[in-house]
Amino acid sequence: MPRIDADRFLKDLNDLRKIGAYRTGVHRPTYSPQDMESRRWLMERLAECGLEPSIDGIGNVYGRHKGPGPHLLVGSHIESQNQAGWLDGALGVVAGVALARAGLPVDVCAFADEEGHFEGGFLGSRSIIGELSEEEIDRSRSRNDGQPLREALAAAGLAGKPRMQLEPGRHKGFFEMHIEQGTQLESNSLRVGVVTGIVAIWQWLIRFEGQQDHAGGTTMAERKDAGLSAVRLLAAIDQEFPRVCGERSTWTTGRISLEPGAPSIIPGSAEVLFQFRDVSVPVLERMEQTLRRLVQESNRREKCPATLIQKSRATPAICDPAMMAALDAAAQAEAPGAWTRMPSGAGHDAQYIAKRMPAAMLFTPSIGGISHHWAEDTKEEDLALCCQVLASAAERFLSA
Ligand SMILES: [Zn+2]
Repeated sequence: MPRIDADRFLKDLNDLRKIGAYRTGVHRPTYSPQDMESRRWLMERLAECGLEPSIDGIGNVYGRHKGPGPHLLVGSHIESQNQAGWLDGALGVVAGVALARAGLPVDVCAFADEEGHFEGGFLGSRSIIGELSEEEIDRSRSRNDGQPLREALAAAGLAGKPRMQLEPGRHKGFFEMHIEQGTQLESNSLRVGVVTGIVAIWQWLIRFEGQQDHAGGTTMAERKDAGLSAVRLLAAIDQEFPRVCGERSTWTTGRISLEPGAPSIIPGSAEVLFQFRDVSVPVLERMEQTLRRLVQESNRREKCPATLIQKSRATPAICDPAMMAALDAAAQAEAPGAWTRMPSGAGHDAQYIAKRMPAAMLFTPSIGGISHHWAEDTKEEDLALCCQVLASAAERFLSA
C-alpha cells in the first residue's frame, strides 16, 4: 500500500493557509488576488510532484498525470467562503497532491467557485462536465459586490482561455476528501466518515393570499391574516415530517416575508421559502406528498389560500459502491472501529463529477462542527489519517 508523506502533506496545507490568511482561517473569495495566488501556488506544487499543470478559462487548476492509466481524479475547491476556514476545499486539493507525491496515478483538480461567490455556484465542476453555458457566464454576477463574472475573469487574467472538459474514459473514478462541517464524527469519537451520497435539496415557495387591513379596526373574526396561516402551516409541517422523513432528513424555512410588513397592518400576503434535503429519492417523495397534503388541509381550514410552487428539485448524488467498499476497507485497516458511513448534508463538487464517472467522498471530523467560519479546524492527526485512508482506498480501487 502506498504511504503518504504526512509531514509534507501538513506542510503543504499550512503553506496554503498563509495565502489570504484571516485570523486562524483564510479569506480567498473566487478570482480575488489571494485566490489567484493560491491557484498559482497549486500549479507549482503540481509541477513539483510530476504532474502537468494548467489553468483554464473558468479558473479550474488541473494537474495531469503523465504516465499510463488507469487514472483517478482527485480534488475539491481552493477558494474559501468570506473570512472562513483553512480546510474547506483546500483539504481535498492538497490531499490530491499528497497522493500524487506517493506515486499514485492521479490527476488533481481544484474546481473554481464551489462556494458560489458568483451566481450559479459550482462554476468549475459544472464547466468541466459541460453543464455551464457561455450565456450563464454572461449573466452571472458576484453575490458579494455585483461585479459581472466576465469582468472578474478578465481581471484574473482568465478571459479568452479555453475551458477544459473531462476526457471521456480517462478516469476510473473521482475521490473528494472534505471536512465534515458537522458534529456526527466528533460526537461519536470517530475519525473517518465514508460518504454514502450527497443530499438533494428540494426548494419550495409557498404563497398565502390574505386581506391587508387595519390592525385595530378589523376584528379578529373578520380578518384574513396571511402571516398566521403561514406559520400554522409551518408548525403542521414540523409536526408531520418526523413521521415520514429519513434518519438524516432536514427541513428549513429560510425566509418568511409578510406584505406590507408594517406594525399596524394585517399582512395581506405571505411568502415562505422552504426546503428539505435527503439522500434518498423515495424519502424526498414522501416528504413532498406530505407537504402537498398539508397545503391542501391548510386550504380547507384557513381563510387565506396557499399556493405551492416548486423552485428546484435536484437528484441526490449516490457514491459509487465499489469506491465506498475501497474506502471502508482502507478505513478499517488504518483506523479500526473509528469510522462510519454517513450521508453529506452539504453540496460538494463530487455531486457534479458523479454525473460523468463513479465518485466517492471521505470526511474528516470538524472540531465542534464549525465551518464557514475562520475558527474551522481539524486535528492534524485526523487530517493525516484520512489522507492515508484516501491513498490506501485509491490503491485498492485501482487494483480491484
Ligand atoms: Zn467545501
